[in-house]
Amino acid sequence: MPHEKWMKEALKMAEKGWGNTNPNPLVGAVITKEDQLISKGYHEYAGGPHAEINALKKAGDASAGSTMYVTLEPCSHYGKTPPCAEAIIKAGVEKVIIAAGDPNEKVAGKGEEMLRKAGIEVITGVMEKEARKQNEIFMHYITEKKPYLIAKAAMSLDGKIATKQGHSQWITGEEARNHAHWVRQRVSAILVGVNTVIADNPQLTVRLPLDKVNQPLRVVLDSKGNIPLTSTLVSTAKEIKTMVATTDQMPVDLEKKLLLEGVEVVRFPHKQGQVDIQSLIDYFASKEVDSVLVEGGSRVMASFISEKMINKLLWYIAPKIIGGNKAPGPIGGEGILHMKEALPITEMETIQLGEDWLMTGYMKGA
Ligand code: NDP
Ligand code: ZN
Repeated sequence: MPHEKWMKEALKMAEKGWGNTNPNPLVGAVITKEDQLISKGYHEYAGGPHAEINALKKAGDASAGSTMYVTLEPCSHYGKTPPCAEAIIKAGVEKVIIAAGDPNEKVAGKGEEMLRKAGIEVITGVMEKEARKQNEIFMHYITEKKPYLIAKAAMSLDGKIATKQGHSQWITGEEARNHAHWVRQRVSAILVGVNTVIADNPQLTVRLPLDKVNQPLRVVLDSKGNIPLTSTLVSTAKEIKTMVATTDQMPVDLEKKLLLEGVEVVRFPHKQGQVDIQSLIDYFASKEVDSVLVEGGSRVMASFISEKMINKLLWYIAPKIIGGNKAPGPIGGEGILHMKEALPITEMETIQLGEDWLMTGYMKGA
């Protein structure tokens, strides 16, 4: 299919914006004439020109009578930039092939309509499934107005995320860890529980050889104020945004010390003595946090799972056995009593990453 061939190219272009467009979508555009490539463009960063405009600029006069492949419906409203649909019409594009409709209520169907009214031939739904998946964070964030929550855990083949004495570095190999860094690059926030900070002293940064690295906000759930002032998260808070989500149980003098180190401290209501994660998610939504990567440990994971907040699971599985009744699994808490209460995971997929495996699946998030 020639349409799919060019749409694949447009999807590849869109991917180049990975991590730099949040909370905007990833969008790629390809312009062709008589099945020959004229130009390509993508949405490079939030607030920057849209993919269609970048492709049109490169094409110049050659865009007259051309076909444009675009992964998301062209916009029809004045946002930070003028509408792309207008620019496409002005440039004399003859045919527009769209992968997915824009769920944004300001656009939804209107971009397509504008093009059709101007006499442009429009075809929609080419590689729609792939395009929607590439923008799953955006699609969720725009329609639900809440961040997309991804649960990530690294575990042994017997489902342990640490040894019985809490040692977990490293369970998986380099390829799996690089993949996890690539996921971090896309999200707006990474979240862990205070026990993980105490046990692992993690950096929670993106460590990839890229020109532009997007360091997500690092968030620690710490209801009572047990985060060590000597932890790496605290000592690097002036360089990388770090937030401690706490309750009224945190002593004020600790809060002051954390603030001096550059840590943002936000007090939330508590639920059975712990940070109420529903209030935390509402807070994120108000701050344009489109996605959160929940990295554990098992207590934190249990809270998010039991409140049915997780949308997607990323399970990195290493061909190793840890064993031990006291070694934790990815999800702690009380658990269920009967199999009929088990939470279903759908659309499972597996890929190999070096010696490890990554299993992904979806949950019906709240
Ligand atoms: P967590 O890291 O999940 O931290 C749990 C603590 O977070 C709670 O005890 C609580 O302390 C605080 N907290 C605040 N609000 C909440 C809330 N709403 N729900 C749950 N917790 C909340 O602790 P775990 O002990 O379960 O896990 C730590 C272990 O997991 C470590 O050994 C670490 O190595 C391992 N780990 C492994 C990973 C892997 O992928 N292999 C990833 C991450 C950790 P308080 O009441 O004081 O606020
Ligand atoms: Zn646009």
